[in-house]
Amino acid sequence: MAAEVQEEYLHKGWFSEINEMWPGIAVSIGVDKKLFSAKSRYQQIDVYQTRSHGKMLVLDGIIQLTEQDEFAYHEMMAHLPLMAHPNPERVLVIGGGDGGILREAGRHDTVRRMDFCEIDEKVIEVSRRFFPETACGFNDERVHIHIEDGDTFVNRCKSCYDVIIVDSSDPVGPGEALFRRPFYNGLKQALAPGGIICTQGESSFLHPEWVRELSQITRELFEASAYATVIVPTYTGGHISICTASLGPALTVPARPMDKDLQARLKYYSPEVHKAAFALPPFARKLVEA
Ligand code: SAM
Repeated sequence: MAAEVQEEYLHKGWFSEINEMWPGIAVSIGVDKKLFSAKSRYQQIDVYQTRSHGKMLVLDGIIQLTEQDEFAYHEMMAHLPLMAHPNPERVLVIGGGDGGILREAGRHDTVRRMDFCEIDEKVIEVSRRFFPETACGFNDERVHIHIEDGDTFVNRCKSCYDVIIVDSSDPVGPGEALFRRPFYNGLKQALAPGGIICTQGESSFLHPEWVRELSQITRELFEASAYATVIVPTYTGGHISICTASLGPALTVPARPMDKDLQARLKYYSPEVHKAAFALPPFARKLVEA
């Protein structure tokens, strides 16, 4: 039913993100044409040319990024944990087949190696072809690509990483395991002392139950944990949460000054935004403290 409705909207020149994950609400984006469509082993992959937001990547009917506003999500998911760590050298990125997190993480001179674990090779291929400004992260020689389920990969790592960033799709389809406690146990073991994790934390408005659960898991497993919010106009609800946790001190403030050249290249992250992103309205604070 949802797919039929979506097709109907497409005929009228609109892509609507109609999905049972957020019943009764949908982001709609005017589209000129579908540039690519294929089913990989794991998911349906579509690329659209939108009228106002550049090209758009959609997986299983859910918007992953548009060229116009991807910077907000990618900058915050990368720079929040990397700036909260005093000297991040070894980084693991799980998911994130578009390359945007790698692009941002690679801006830090302290980083010596970036392992990248994505389950679906086809997303990387499509992103390289249609989103070169995001996928440029793959050109960094510090990147080592592993095509594998992140849940399996992380269990082979012991005390390996200073920062782990989980840029997962939603907890339906291949990303499901990445929202469960065993995966977070694996993340903890894979961190070096003082290490930090940062995961896609869904929305306090749309999915309070997931926010509550991830908060409980991270609070129990880690020394410090905190939820942040980032504005992303093309995600349903106009925002998404970021779940962070650390084996070291609190990560709600940057641990080091930001390089001036790096700051000049960023459009969303700043040390002020870092601190402000962790200020939650009372209803969301209640969820993360429940
Ligand atoms: N934050 C974005 C969003 O939710 O809109 C996520 C973008 S990124 C394209 C998500 C990536 O996670 C996809 O490329 C998908 O293939 C990958 N992914 C999903 N489950 C995974 C798993 N179990 N292991 C590794 N990568 C996974």
